[in-house]
Amino acid sequence: MKLVLMGAPGAGKGTQAERIVEKYGIPHISTGDMFRAAIKGGTELGLKAKSFMDAGNLVPDEVTIGIVQERLGEKDCEKGFLLDGFPRTVAQADALESILDELNRPLDFAVNIDVPKDNLMERLTGRRICKSCGATYHLFFNPPKQEGTCDKCGGELYQRPDDNEETVGRRLEVYLQQTKPLLDFYEEKGYLKNIDGDQEIDKVFSDLQNLFGGKQ
Ligand SMILES: [Zn+2]
Repeated sequence: MKLVLMGAPGAGKGTQAERIVEKYGIPHISTGDMFRAAIKGGTELGLKAKSFMDAGNLVPDEVTIGIVQERLGEKDCEKGFLLDGFPRTVAQADALESILDELNRPLDFAVNIDVPKDNLMERLTGRRICKSCGATYHLFFNPPKQEGTCDKCGGELYQRPDDNEETVGRRLEVYLQQTKPLLDFYEEKGYLKNIDGDQEIDKVFSDLQNLFGGKQ
């Protein structure tokens, strides 16, 4: 199965990706892992990517796309793959299509794990951490017995600045804005499948399996 998996921060994409690659026996190809492997392997493109990263710059599309092309051409991708974090833009999606055409391995699905923004906010802002022992809680999924107090040591719970509404809201807004053209692109091409991510993890996974049907 050849898959692009998309989902906002907090949508549960990572969890579902793990389950998919295990069940279908396909490699999980995330942009970060791919860069690290190319750099470690000392490939020409890997070294190029490293020079941009070392200088604190974004890796340009042509380098990223080259690395993706090399990775997708490897033997373990013959039976399929799950792409995670790539493509991010329509230009990258276009390039991916050419790569897959060339390899004669067309995409099966571009799956979007869809969770309403309000629910994402709830998921992403609910984390609380104990000041004393570092235990983590979640106001909705794993609340402490007594509000604001650690079950384990009685310490005070706090919210990391990264988790506050303003920061999370901005991060989500940027994601949604950047992703909209990509979703439109895949919709037009007929690859896009929206999966309701606002359900139990097991139910989301079973919806995914239903979508994939008998595909290997
Ligand atoms: Zn504690």
